[in-house]
Amino acid sequence: MENVIIIGTGCAGYTAAIYAARANLEPLILAGLQPGGQLTTTTEVENYPGFPDGIMGPDLMMAMGKQAEKFGTRTEWATVTKIEKRDDGTFLVIAGDNEFETKTVIIATGAAPRHLGLDNEKDLIGRGLTSCATCDGAFFPDVPVCVIGGGDSACEEASFLTRFASKVYLIHRRDELRASKIMADRALANEKVEPVWDTTVTEYLTDDSGAMRAVKLKNLKTGDESELEVKCVFVAIGHVPNTQFLEGLIETDDNGYIIQQPGSTRTNVEGVFAAGDVADHVYRQAVTAAGNGCAAALDAERYLADQEG
Ligand code: NAP
Repeated sequence: MENVIIIGTGCAGYTAAIYAARANLEPLILAGLQPGGQLTTTTEVENYPGFPDGIMGPDLMMAMGKQAEKFGTRTEWATVTKIEKRDDGTFLVIAGDNEFETKTVIIATGAAPRHLGLDNEKDLIGRGLTSCATCDGAFFPDVPVCVIGGGDSACEEASFLTRFASKVYLIHRRDELRASKIMADRALANEKVEPVWDTTVTEYLTDDSGAMRAVKLKNLKTGDESELEVKCVFVAIGHVPNTQFLEGLIETDDNGYIIQQPGSTRTNVEGVFAAGDVADHVYRQAVTAAGNGCAAALDAERYLADQEG
């Protein structure tokens, strides 16, 4: 019987693990499909305190993992498919054929990139459709590509892609970017970046081999339709929280984000806590996720002490 199982190895999960391990709770952390979380798909992180010269996202996550292990955190590679609450108040965490028993659970499963929902989307992933410029940008040297979205992610990806692509179209559904000024200015100042305003992508067009050839565009102001030749589409239109596996056990909002009890990381189920992007559609920063992971470990520790006392 574990004291605490932490699901997820992003900033929230690892920080929860560091705190739980230092409280001698010997946490078990379950790593899913994206070990290290979203920062492993990014490049330079300039806004995590303590790194005045910036740090690469994957390096930061590796350091957090090491720090968690240093204090006794154990890691299993297992994608959780279900959590069951038992009559005695403990939990069964099911990951395929593996089952784990625990007194508390911290859900820190983060969020996954959102897609447009176009017809041939699934077939094109890995064939010119991606959400990760860091992972796939280098595969498209000296060809035109596009980024969809107008937030910090879209601007960051567009700037990064100028290292490889001949041209980066930044396709946004409005005529104003949502991104912070510094990120927007940096992207738009790059001569390889060409914004395409008030426009949505309505279709992904493929070549004879089934790979991305072009996108079909619709101007939302004029209704004009056109085609734009691109070899790769980088989708940066936000995220969907990874809560599908909770199957109604934990209360979520309409968009699937876990609802935390006011002023804490407690969920509607006693003994289950949530931390990070899986419960935060407002701030969604590495540092806020880390802070929330710390709070979840402290909440779990107090809950266990109350149970035992
Ligand atoms: P975001 O801020 O939610 O932006 C999503 C963008 O996608 C918006 O411009 C939105 O358009 C557009 N969009 C959403 N649904 C769409 C659809 N169906 N079709 C077309 N466009 C659509 O997401 P994000 O850029 O991933 O950023 C998430 C959080 O992470 C933010 O808090 C951001 O500051 C942070 N972040 C920080 C950094 C950094 O500081 N290094 C880097 C990346 C992200 P509208 O603008 O019209 O709504």
